[in-house]
Amino acid sequence: MIIVMERTATKENVQRAVNLLEEHGFRVIVHEGDVHTCIDALGDKTTLTPGRVSALDGVKEVKVIREPFRLASRDRKSEDTVIEFSNGVKIGGKNRPVFIVGPCSVDSDYAGLLQVATAAKEMGCEFLRGGAFKPRTSPYDFQGLEEEALKMMAKAKEETGLLLVTEVMDSQDLPMISDYVDVVQIGARNMQNFKLLKAVGKANIPVVLKRGPANTIREFLLAAEHIMYNGNEQVILCERGIRTFDDKYTRNTLDLTAVPVIKKLSHLPIIVDPSHATGQRYLIEPMSKAALVVGADGIMMEVHHDPENALSDGKQSLPIPMFKDVIKRLSTLRDQLEYDKTCLSANVK
Ligand code: PEP
Ligand code: MN
Repeated sequence: MIIVMERTATKENVQRAVNLLEEHGFRVIVHEGDVHTCIDALGDKTTLTPGRVSALDGVKEVKVIREPFRLASRDRKSEDTVIEFSNGVKIGGKNRPVFIVGPCSVDSDYAGLLQVATAAKEMGCEFLRGGAFKPRTSPYDFQGLEEEALKMMAKAKEETGLLLVTEVMDSQDLPMISDYVDVVQIGARNMQNFKLLKAVGKANIPVVLKRGPANTIREFLLAAEHIMYNGNEQVILCERGIRTFDDKYTRNTLDLTAVPVIKKLSHLPIIVDPSHATGQRYLIEPMSKAALVVGADGIMMEVHHDPENALSDGKQSLPIPMFKDVIKRLSTLRDQLEYDKTCLSANVK
């Protein structure tokens, strides 16, 4: 780190900072400028955090050179992380982007869920998503069918072979949920639920971690770091839009810059969810195309057999015929981009 002292800092202030740094094993070089004194300090920030140094009298600013997300960072691991599933599907690196599709919430109509799963399989999608435990803004809205929904998803997997993704909201449910699905999702609202991050960090299951609507890219990567720090490196990031001021036409603003930025900063795969990002079914196709072009490792989208009667997020869910048309065009684009994606990821590193 580099410590910039105040113009008014005394010699004692500088010495106090130097002593503290040296006591913690830092190698220190002091530059006495005409106006400000700067201290270069090389060492392990786990023993002395930048926050503690910035609290010292006479310290103006502490600049951290290395990113704070150590395990998730490209500096630690230059090659892309690839997450591989038992059926050979892979997410990340130079593998072709995956499609994760399904209803926002699984409702009691198993036939409807199977219609979606069958269409997904037919169109070459890899994953069926479905909400069993729903994080709803209002307590009066549908909260999810819990284990009953997971049983229906497992049945749909038996019939189609699709891999399963569902959200976990409480660490107590994690063992039960992990018995049914291939990937657990941490929803946007829980991105900084550190106890939950720790719990999935201790589990041995891939995790889709969604970006909180009001969180920075740095906070997003630090949330991933919590999971990795606790032992689970199988993290798939998901950009799903950030809080917008223009909520008349879109639910959130889809921050597609996050994709190349994260590819530059981190080796983890990143997918994009245009359904929650936009809240509008007509925007799913254009924003999915854009996401593929900027190098996303996958697309998550909501699909329902009867969106008008869906118990959540019907407005942003594709009905099956429209889903088939959209996926057909996205698959064509995905094939065209296969070569370009290699170039893209090489360029951003
Ligand atoms: C979801 O994927 O079902 C969901 C609730 O999304 P988000 O956490 O991104 O709002
Ligand atoms: Mn939803």
